[in-house]
Amino acid sequence: NTEVTEKWLQEYVDSWVQFFKKQTVDGEVATYIPILAEANADALGISIIGRNGTIIKSGITEEKFTIQSISKVLTFIVACMERGLAYVLSRVDVEPTGEAFNSIMHLEMKRPNKPFNPLVNSGAITVSSMLEGRTSDQKLEALIVLLEKMIGYRPEVNVRAYESERDTSMKNRAIGYYLLEGDYLESDLGITLETYFKQSAIEITVDDLARIGLVLSNDGFDPNTNEEIIPRAISRLAKALMLTCGMYDASGKFAAYVGVPAKSGVSGGILAVVPPRVRDEEFPFLEGCGIGVYGPALDNQGNSIGGIKLLRHIANQWDLSLF
Ligand code: GLU
Repeated sequence: NTEVTEKWLQEYVDSWVQFFKKQTVDGEVATYIPILAEANADALGISIIGRNGTIIKSGITEEKFTIQSISKVLTFIVACMERGLAYVLSRVDVEPTGEAFNSIMHLEMKRPNKPFNPLVNSGAITVSSMLEGRTSDQKLEALIVLLEKMIGYRPEVNVRAYESERDTSMKNRAIGYYLLEGDYLESDLGITLETYFKQSAIEITVDDLARIGLVLSNDGFDPNTNEEIIPRAISRLAKALMLTCGMYDASGKFAAYVGVPAKSGVSGGILAVVPPRVRDEEFPFLEGCGIGVYGPALDNQGNSIGGIKLLRHIANQWDLSLF
């Protein structure tokens, strides 16, 4: 019965979180945005929400953290909803780069003739420039409203985190100037960067990430009301991008060893989407679930070190890989 199943799933997840928490010592918190350096390096938490309503959470689950690069998936979705899929894709490609997320190399080489994908900084900043609105707050409104529909409350921008990045992020300014020179931007550079830094500083929890993941797993539909939150075609494309480009330059390994669409951020969050596979009483998550992870100690590629290990283990134990 469901109660027994939930109890043993919970016990397993608790023991795995305790185990992988010890392995966070091999990673380091991001320091290039000063405020991120304050994070607790051995924190690890997870929330898994199934389509059938099962919720398993363990470890540090109440703490808010900034969404960082996970926002890139969401601004891409919003831009497609506002401007149309075809138009957005005419401005940003959908190819993985194999380079670091903030690489400037391809922009300098002017190859290809548009940023590689919306999940690296050059593509994401281009997407932020395409959001409707004149000011950064206007541009972010549709994103906040979309998030509210998925997580049930209006999330806020952490002003300290926003200012911390705004005042130090010279690399992103450099990317911005390349984009400006290449005529990729659709709004003023200053406003575009302000939008990008603010979207990165939106605060969420692992539960929120799991809820977002569940909507994506359900092809953009609210799992409870069946209301369309994101058009199916946009939701599908977002998941394809997550699978191919979501985990920085370790996206191939993540697809190989975990096998589900996911997006990470430098604050240590990971949004993972498990699309429905089969109906299974014992493993409710095979009917589809969203997973949120938080573990600020990062590996060399910038992914949560404990988070990746935990997800890999869970995916193996529960056979979650799409492949
Ligand atoms: N705000 C971050 C930056 O652009 C987002 C990076 C990330 O999470 O990958 O540097």
